[in-house]
Order: sequence, then structure tokens, then C-alpha cells
Amino acid sequence: MQGDITEQEVDAVVNAANSSLMGGGGVDGAIHRRGGPAILDECRALRASRYGRGLPTGQAVATTAGNLPARWVIHTVGPVHSRDEDRSALLASCYRESLKVADSLGAATVAFPAISAGIYGWPMDDAARVAVTTVRAASTSVEEVRFVLFGADALAAFERAL
Ligand code: ADP
Repeated sequence: MQGDITEQEVDAVVNAANSSLMGGGGVDGAIHRRGGPAILDECRALRASRYGRGLPTGQAVATTAGNLPARWVIHTVGPVHSRDEDRSALLASCYRESLKVADSLGAATVAFPAISAGIYGWPMDDAARVAVTTVRAASTSVEEVRFVLFGADALAAFERAL
């Protein structure tokens, strides 16, 4: 669907984070703006405990969702298109690892943005193909995966991939 991921009434929304977990632009900025400071506090605690060097690309970790309608935010770090070797495998890993975290939380509904298709520079069609293929092949207890796309072009790319 076309929409704003911060408005989704789902169990978990996925954040296209950066490895610092300290916020940024795009989806990340929107989630922290609307979710409020509780999310950033939890991210700071994660940096101080499990992820001293930041969350590695392709991995995922959850916090609660502050003021968002969702219950949890699952933060994942997508690959930068121009930089990361093995980028398709890393992007697929973002979707798989996020679903694993959702399973561990007991989340039945999960909303994903087009990870890496903004500031991280992926062509939308390619990002959509990896997203759809990976989610379809994943073994998960999640009942509904919702791709929430910001514009008509992104929506069209995901419809083509589906
Ligand atoms: P990345 O850094 O992984 O590329 P971005 O947040 O820059 O992530 O962008 C990922 C995609 O999400 C882009 O297509 C962007 O237009 C879109 N996007 C930005 N804000 C939102 C939002 N609030 N809801 C849904 N999609 C969004």
C-alpha cells in the first residue's frame, strides 16, 4: 500500500535505520519524530550493551514504539547500494532477520518500508524484487506483511515485483 509507515496499526513497524541507531533521515527520522524520545532511549541502551560498534548491516533488533500506534519498532540496517559488496544478500538478510525478531516478539502483523531505496540509493525495482522474493520465501509465524511505500512510483515497483 501507499502510505506513511509511522501511521500503521500493526504489531511491529520496521525502521530503515543506520548502524548508529541514533536516528537519521527518511523513515528513521519520521519514526523518531512521531514515536518520541522513548525509542531513542532504548536505542542508546542497546548501543551501551549489545551493539557498542553499532548494529551491523543486515541485522535487526527491536525496541518498543513510544507514541506510534504499533507496539514495537524493529530496527534494521540496509546495505548502501554503491558501497556494500554482497548487497543483495545483505538486503535479503534485513527482511529475514526482521521477521525472525517479529517471531521472537510474537508479532502477527509487520509493516516494512522499502529498505535501502531512499538515502541508501537502491533502484526501487531492484529493492522491491529482493523484498518480495525474500518475504515470500521466509519461514515465519507472521500472518501479515504489509509493504508501506511512500510514493506512487514505489507502490508501482512493489506491485510489479508481487
Ligand atoms: P534507507 O536509508 O534504507 O535508504 P530511507 O528512509 O532513506 O532508507 O528510505 C527508504 C524508503 O522509504 C524510501 O523509498 C523513502 O521514500 C521511503 N520513506 C521515507 N519516509 C517514509 C515514511 N514515513 N513511510 C514510508 N516510507 C517512507
